[in-house]
Amino acid sequence: MPQPDATTEDVLAAIREFDQLGRESFLQKFGFGRARDYFVRHGGRFYDSKALLGVAHGYQHGEPLRPDEFSGGDAAAAATLRGLGFTVSDPNPDWTEDEIVLACDLISRHGWRYLDENHPEVEELSQVLQLLSRHPEARRGPTFRNPSGVARKTADIATQHPDSTGRPTRGNRLDKVVLDQFLADPAGMAGRARAIRAAIDNPDATAPLPDLDLDPDASADEGGILERKSLVRERDPKLRRHKIKSVLKSGGTVSCEVCAFDFERTYGERGRLYIEVHHRTPLHVTGTVRTRLADLALLCSNCHRMIHRRRPWLSIEDLQDALQQP
Ligand SMILES: [Zn+2]
Ligand SMILES: [Zn+2]
Repeated sequence: MPQPDATTEDVLAAIREFDQLGRESFLQKFGFGRARDYFVRHGGRFYDSKALLGVAHGYQHGEPLRPDEFSGGDAAAAATLRGLGFTVSDPNPDWTEDEIVLACDLISRHGWRYLDENHPEVEELSQVLQLLSRHPEARRGPTFRNPSGVARKTADIATQHPDSTGRPTRGNRLDKVVLDQFLADPAGMAGRARAIRAAIDNPDATAPLPDLDLDPDASADEGGILERKSLVRERDPKLRRHKIKSVLKSGGTVSCEVCAFDFERTYGERGRLYIEVHHRTPLHVTGTVRTRLADLALLCSNCHRMIHRRRPWLSIEDLQDALQQP
């Protein structure tokens, strides 16, 4: 089978032909179907990437490749085009837990029924998801979290509902997990949906949250916006200063509440008043945003890291129990 072979110039020529003919005629002329996952993004427009490469090959070799003449699938064509310097979108990523929480919240308010893509709240959720997602914008395809994708997700979830008589569609495993959480605790999960939306609307959140490096082994992505905001909130220096002040005022010591480590005792002057602050109830559990000093615990860096190292995060008491006394 021929290896698709084209230069950047050939691909640009194919793009021009695509523009002249329009998508449908271009695909039809060269015998390609619509791409599902991989699109070249060029000049603010999207181009079916395998078709583009097959046609570009023709400029180089006289005869365009037909779809069944490629060695390697769509992903290989995408890699070739990236190698030529083009931006190619990724397949739409699986829905994250936050996204499914918002979708469940929407259809819970509509009797757990499927909503179609023209429903105003489906269109609104599509916009919210585009703001929420951390998937890099340059790698998003033309259908990324669009209303028809959101509508399909409402069907995935609705058909998993115990009262549903429809045949379950092919959703992902998390759909059912989140749906069950909603059925067990409707008010709590509605609160979590509100907290997620509030976290997006908050002007602090329009700048991307920093990647949190608490565990080098864990993927920072799966935690969701509320977990990340929890960690950002703990790092607020003002909050930390207030907490330390109040501990000193009440005659306490600035030492770890789990292992009693005292930075000053170990490091002298350099360690004086150093401690980390940890929030006892993370945002994804409470959904509330206001912090009281009593919600904060003082922790040394080791204990703090152990709490956040894996999901679910440990409570202070759990870590105390886990602490091995020498
Ligand atoms: Zn400690
Ligand atoms: Zn913490």
